[in-house]
Amino acid sequence: MSDNGAALSAHRQDPNPMTNQPDPTLHDLVIKNGTVISDAAVFVADVAVDGEQIAAIGHDLRGRRTIDADGLYVIPGAIDIHVHLEMPIGRFTSTDDFYHGTLAAAMGGTTAIVDFVETRPDEAMLEALAARQARAAGKVVIDYGLHMTIGPDDIAKLDQVAAARAAGCGSFKLYMAYGLRLNDGELLQALEAVRDAGALPVVHAENWDVITTLIGRNLAAGHTTPHWHPRSRPAALEAEAAGRVIDIATWVGVPLHIFHVSCAAVVERIVAAKARGLPITGETCPQYLYLTQDVYDRPGVDGALPVCSPPLRPESDRRALWAALESGALDLVTTDHCPFTAAEKATGLDDFSRIPGGVPSIESRLSLIYDGLVNRASGDKAAALRRWVDVCATTPARLLGFANKGQLLPGYDADIVLFDPQATRTISADSLHETAGWTPYEGVELHGAPVITLSRGEVIADHGRPLATPGRGRFVPR
Ligand code: MN
Ligand code: MN
Repeated sequence: MSDNGAALSAHRQDPNPMTNQPDPTLHDLVIKNGTVISDAAVFVADVAVDGEQIAAIGHDLRGRRTIDADGLYVIPGAIDIHVHLEMPIGRFTSTDDFYHGTLAAAMGGTTAIVDFVETRPDEAMLEALAARQARAAGKVVIDYGLHMTIGPDDIAKLDQVAAARAAGCGSFKLYMAYGLRLNDGELLQALEAVRDAGALPVVHAENWDVITTLIGRNLAAGHTTPHWHPRSRPAALEAEAAGRVIDIATWVGVPLHIFHVSCAAVVERIVAAKARGLPITGETCPQYLYLTQDVYDRPGVDGALPVCSPPLRPESDRRALWAALESGALDLVTTDHCPFTAAEKATGLDDFSRIPGGVPSIESRLSLIYDGLVNRASGDKAAALRRWVDVCATTPARLLGFANKGQLLPGYDADIVLFDPQATRTISADSLHETAGWTPYEGVELHGAPVITLSRGEVIADHGRPLATPGRGRFVPR
C-alpha cells in the first residue's frame, strides 16, 4: 500500500500534461491515413507537420489539427521550373502577374516555380535580380526561384556570373533563338562561365538562322497564316540545335538541361547523350503532350492562340514524348507558361511571325500529367504514380537545387498536395485562375484533381478556395 501511495502521490505532483506541458509527440498538424507517394514508394501513412516543416511520417501520429486524407494521394507539392510571369515580350507583357500566376499554380497543386531575370545592357546582373525580386515581392503566394538570362549583351558581364550564382541564381538561361540568341562562340563562353560558377545552364535550342530564313521565304510567298508557323521551325533543326549545344557543353565539361522538347528528334539526341554517360537532361510541356500542329489550321484567332515555340508537332511526336516521359528519356515536365490574351494573339493574324508566342498551363499541369501518366498507364499503377511525382516534383527540385523541396521527408518544407483520384473536372477558362481568358485545354475532362495545397505548413488552397495572402511566398536561393 505504501509503495502505491507514494507512486500516486508523486504522480499527482507532476504538471497536468493536458494543460501545462507540451506533449512532444503532439504535432501542429497531421494529415491522416493518406496514400503517400514519393518517387520511390507508395504507402498509407500519416504525415506530421510542425511549423513550416515536415516533422514525421508514420502511423498513429497525433496533431492539434488533423486533415482526413483517407482515399487521397499525399504528394510533395509540384514544382514548375519554367514559367514566364509578367514577362515583357515585344509589345506585350504576359498576362499573369506574380500574384495571379502563383495563385493559379497553387490552385493546381504547384508550390514552387522558377521564373527568369533579364538584364538590360546598362544593368548589372545583381541589379536586375533585385529588380525582378522587387516585382515578385508582395505578390507571390508560393516560393520561387529565378534563372539568370545570359544574352549577347551579357557576354561582357560574364565576370558577374559567380556573384549571381552566390545570390541564389543556381541556373542560367541561354537562348539559341530570338533577339537574345547567342552564337556558338558566345554559347561557348557562357557555358564556361556557368561551369566555373558551379551552376546549371538551361537552354532554348532552335536553329535561328534557318528559322528566320524560312519565315522570310514563307511571308514573301504570301504564306502568312499560323499554318506556316511549325513549317518555319522544323523539328529536325530543333534537334540539330539541341545536338550542337549538347556537344559544346560536353566539350566545355558542364551539365546541360534542354528546355521544352517538342519532338522525337530531340529526344533521340538526349538519349544518345545519356547513353554516353553525359549529364544531359530534358523536359517537355503539356502543350506538346496534348496538342498537335493541326490546331494551327483552325480558322481565325483560334489558329493563332496555340502559337508557341518550339511549335506543336505531328501526332507521332506527341506519342513519342509520352513514351519518353514514361521511359526516363525525358526527365521532367514544365509548362513554359507564357499567356497572352486572344486580342494580343490576333495582332499577328496577317503575319504568323508577329503572334506573341506562348500558352498557359500553370494551373492544369499536375492533373494533365496525372491523367496521361497514371490513368492511361498500361502497366504497374504504383510505378506510374511514382513516375508522376518524380517528373512533376522530385526531379525538378533535385536538378534545380531546391534543397528542401520535392520530397516528403522530415526536415523538408511542408509543401504538400492532397490529390483526389476520384475527382473529375472539365477544364474551362471560366473556372481557372489563370487570366489569359482562354486555355488550350478547354473541355478536356480530367479524372483526378488536387483538393488541398499546403505551402510551408499553411493551407493555401482548399477545395477550390484560394486562401493565400499575396506576398507570403519567398525567394529560394538555389
Ligand atoms: Mn523558350
Ligand atoms: Mn520559356
